Amino acid sequence: MTRSFTYQALPMRVVFGAGVLAKLPDEVAALGLSRVLVLCSPEQEETGQRVAAALGERCAGVLAEARMHVPVEVARRARDLADELGADGCVAVGGGSAVGLGKAIALEHDLPIIAVPTTYAGSEMTPVWGLTEDGEKRTGRDARVLPRSVLYDPEMTLGLPARMSATSGMNAIAHAVEGLYAPDATPIISLMAEEGARALAAALPRVVADGSDLDARAEAQYGAWLCGAVLAATTMSLHHKLCHTLGGTLDLPHAQTHTVVLPHALAFNQPAAPGAVAALSRALGGARDPARELWELADRLGAPRSLAELGMAEADISRIADLAVAKPYANPRPVTRDGVESLLRAAWAGAPPSPIEPDQEERT
Ligand code: NAD
Repeated sequence: MTRSFTYQALPMRVVFGAGVLAKLPDEVAALGLSRVLVLCSPEQEETGQRVAAALGERCAGVLAEARMHVPVEVARRARDLADELGADGCVAVGGGSAVGLGKAIALEHDLPIIAVPTTYAGSEMTPVWGLTEDGEKRTGRDARVLPRSVLYDPEMTLGLPARMSATSGMNAIAHAVEGLYAPDATPIISLMAEEGARALAAALPRVVADGSDLDARAEAQYGAWLCGAVLAATTMSLHHKLCHTLGGTLDLPHAQTHTVVLPHALAFNQPAAPGAVAALSRALGGARDPARELWELADRLGAPRSLAELGMAEADISRIADLAVAKPYANPRPVTRDGVESLLRAAWAGAPPSPIEPDQEERT
């Protein structure tokens, strides 16, 4: 087919490297900010306070209340505090939860965000926000929530435990996988997706073996940056739909759910996405069956491989399958109720993903 695409670049400023946290005061000053609110999760309050101390007078306060999926009550408190302190910007230090809280403030108060990511989730690269009320998560896109500046300092990821590093990294790879077969995939984004998956797949075993290996941490974070940029630029498909449904309905943990579902969702889509299979095969060291390779990688990383071990009851499989097909996301392979149920059953049990078909192998 003749090449045809539309590509819209997003403004992003990235400062990358070990020790770049020291440049945070300059980044704050460059944006003309003088009273920023530092946001972090309760578990990372010490880190938040350290960042606040480094900012000195330019910091108006610290709010250590970020939580997964941004509950509206927390978002309201954060907005009120920003008002009360006369904050003119936010510095989000942490994973997707801290960045998500900054986005919730930006959405209403239009305050610029500077992000200092400490996981591989990638939210800092996207204009996507999320808010959860009464157990229901609403999401949307808004240019105002895209961080103005992102400081990727691998030293900030040294404290991320091995298991969380593994699942967070697999969460990032999931963005690359779905970006490769997205309806709005573009050549530049596909290059980023392939390179992001390659960097993470190579780095994660080293990170898990030795969490203090700064080179491995830097390589993983480089991959996470690329995968986050892919997430921002493309429309996600069945895999993300399943994870959103599982997370929203059963409150399963975000990164772990991505890790378990990814090989199965990819196995389902592989027959309809030969270009993605070829790119992932290159990224994963020539793997014949990328879905199987990711399933084995999860095992090597000591990451969970079954939804049962994440606490999902077998009886919920059918309900999740119904919900996932009710309002399906765009997908390279037509989504059927039976297909989704059987992939969920395999993911629930921790069984291997369905193997790549021989005729598919010939095409890639
Ligand atoms: P998280 O931000 O919830 O962090 C998980 C836990 O790990 C927290 O307790 C946190 O304090 C801790 N932690 C983080 N970094 C650490 C470090 N370096 N050392 C020690 N502890 C650390 O988890 P996450 O997976 O990064 O983010 C998940 C959330 O982000 C979800 O709500 C998800 O929906 C959202 N998300 C949004 C987007 C988007 O584009 N909007 C993209 C990805 C994820």
